[in-house]
Amino acid sequence: MNQKERMETPARDEMLQIDLCSGQVRVMLCETTNTVQRCADIHGSTPVCTAALGRLMTGTVMLGIMMKGEEESVTVSLKGDGPMGTLIAVADHGFVRACADDPRVELPLREDGKLDVGSAVGHTGRMSVIKDLGLKKNYIGQSEIVSGEIAMDFANYFTVSEQQPSLVALGVLVSGNSVLKAGGLLIQPLPGCPDEIIDQLELRSPMFADISRELTFADPEQLCRDWFRGMEPRILERTPIAYRCTCSRDRMERALVSLGRKDLQSLIDEDQGAELGCHFCHSQYFFTTEELRQLLERAADKGEEQE
Ligand SMILES: [Zn+2]
Repeated sequence: MNQKERMETPARDEMLQIDLCSGQVRVMLCETTNTVQRCADIHGSTPVCTAALGRLMTGTVMLGIMMKGEEESVTVSLKGDGPMGTLIAVADHGFVRACADDPRVELPLREDGKLDVGSAVGHTGRMSVIKDLGLKKNYIGQSEIVSGEIAMDFANYFTVSEQQPSLVALGVLVSGNSVLKAGGLLIQPLPGCPDEIIDQLELRSPMFADISRELTFADPEQLCRDWFRGMEPRILERTPIAYRCTCSRDRMERALVSLGRKDLQSLIDEDQGAELGCHFCHSQYFFTTEELRQLLERAADKGEEQE
């Protein structure tokens, strides 16, 4: 097994795409326990940071799976005023990766005994959603962080930026270094959905509130049957979810080239080569001074083309 393969979780996590009431409501329901555990192992994150990164990844993978084009991906960043700094998650379909400036923040539990994710992320700041639609076309949605608890921030993003009212639940149950359960739920009534159906869903919403705990009792398929009884739930699609980084030597070369000639030259002048680490999986890539010189030529060529 090479380093890259170890970074992938076995595809036991899964997203269910479901519709209710003959397609009037769209639901995404997933378990992400293994994916979040992999993230915690890579970053050595504290429980509160594991919960924050896990919720962010679970929300992001929903957006990733909604995107249909093969080359499409989505990046969600949370720049809050909390001690974790910026959190970033990237999903291409069911594959997701995440990192934070500081994944080792420790905070006291909240008064209700829960992990204080909101304080770790920060209660104010910006949430950005960048959808890479291939062909250099990007969609960028911005919204305010409303609580830092992340599920509410995703719900606010859907409502404000995509004009799509949404109920979002994201949960990570952690004990020390172990992720016991993680998962998420998204409910979106589609345009024209009658009020009675929306009222029904709101009545049931307390059932969804603690999704990671619910997952300790039943798998997503069973939860789907229990929660949406009488609403004709239909599972339309299943997508495996896993932690996967897409970094490569080739990508690192391109990153070095894009630094520009001046920065590359100063790396060469230091004459010690350059070591680049991936923020998402901690793989290390080493470039000798000679290799940097070759990259400098590519950077130069690029500059001349633009002139
Ligand atoms: Zn990587």
